[in-house]
Amino acid sequence: MTKILRGDRNQCPTCNLYFNSTLAFTKHRIGDYTTAQRRCLIESEMLDKGMSLKATGWWVSAQMPTERLPQAKLADLLPNPCLTLPFQINASNRSIPCR
Ligand SMILES: [Zn+2]
Repeated sequence: MTKILRGDRNQCPTCNLYFNSTLAFTKHRIGDYTTAQRRCLIESEMLDKGMSLKATGWWVSAQMPTERLPQAKLADLLPNPCLTLPFQINASNRSIPCR
C-alpha cells in the first residue's frame, strides 16, 4: 500500500519500507558507505535494535514507553493541587502551586 510522505516521513528506495523519521531510516541502514557493504536491516534486526513497527505501517526508531504509572507513584501525585478535581481557582491567588 502506498503511503503519503509528509514531514520527516520517508520510504527506503532499497527495501521499500516506510519510516516515520530520518532517524528511523538511518537506524535501519548499516555498513560502510565506501565499500558497497551498506545494506538495510531485516525486520528482526530492526526489532533487535529497539525499533518498532506501528500498526499504521510506519517504522519508528524506538518504541514509546507504554507502561502505566505504578500505583504508589500515582498516589504520590494525587495530593498535588494541580491534579485535584473539581478544579477551584482562587481569584486572589491565580498562581496555583505545583510541585
Ligand atoms: Zn531499506
